Amino acid sequence: MPRQFFVGGNFKMNPNSVAEKIALTTLLNKAELDDSVVVAPPALYLIPLKEILRKEIQVAAQNCYFKDSGAFTGEISPAQLKDAGIPYVILGHSERRTLFHETSEIVAQKTKAALAGSLSVILCIGETLEQRETDQTAQVCAAQLQAVVDLLSEADWSKIVIAYEPVWAIGTGKVASAAQAQATHADIRAFLGTAVSPAVAQATRIIYGGSVNKGNCKELSTQPDVDGFLVGGASLKPEFVDIINATR
Ligand code: PEP
Repeated sequence: MPRQFFVGGNFKMNPNSVAEKIALTTLLNKAELDDSVVVAPPALYLIPLKEILRKEIQVAAQNCYFKDSGAFTGEISPAQLKDAGIPYVILGHSERRTLFHETSEIVAQKTKAALAGSLSVILCIGETLEQRETDQTAQVCAAQLQAVVDLLSEADWSKIVIAYEPVWAIGTGKVASAAQAQATHADIRAFLGTAVSPAVAQATRIIYGGSVNKGNCKELSTQPDVDGFLVGGASLKPEFVDIINATR
């Protein structure tokens, strides 16, 4: 079965006002969209955004904890997201790994808990510039995934979208070339084939993130192992609609 193109918008700690949020929503509600579209606003806006977005567009939290409840100030649990009708969560974003010191083991625990709580997961992995320059890209992505593989069953993978996001490309304006993205996505798929199963490797969507914009999305989208995008900065602009429709 062909993998359905998937585009996520990671709003990060934006927008800064309810008015901006409404403008973004109006744009998405009016657009003609082909693909699976999921937008991830700050936690505070998840429910109001879900209420005003049209039904085909889903919402994702940008993070969750791995416990269902308890004394974990500032955290949100998978059970709470589920209860609020939020279907997706982004986990392992490089900003979480770097700024908030989330290890691959923590990301794996969160992934397991999110799936156990019936959420779908956009699982982010990717290498730093130094790791790419020393030819460690495939190895780093494999190690980040292995921590997750260790905790999941084969069936769990049907609810995971992998976002390959080279750290050097996130928010920098330096996009991976189509050839670089394709080569790494193919390595990630090969890893899944060996570490999980050929069926999971074939079915799992691997999306690219890192300075995707209106100008570069079409070429990236033609690569056989690029199944969509996770978009940061450009998801806050009208060009997000062009990125969603990159395969048209
Ligand atoms: C991201 O934050 O996931 C991202 C890919 O950001 P940007 O598109 O701004 O590089």
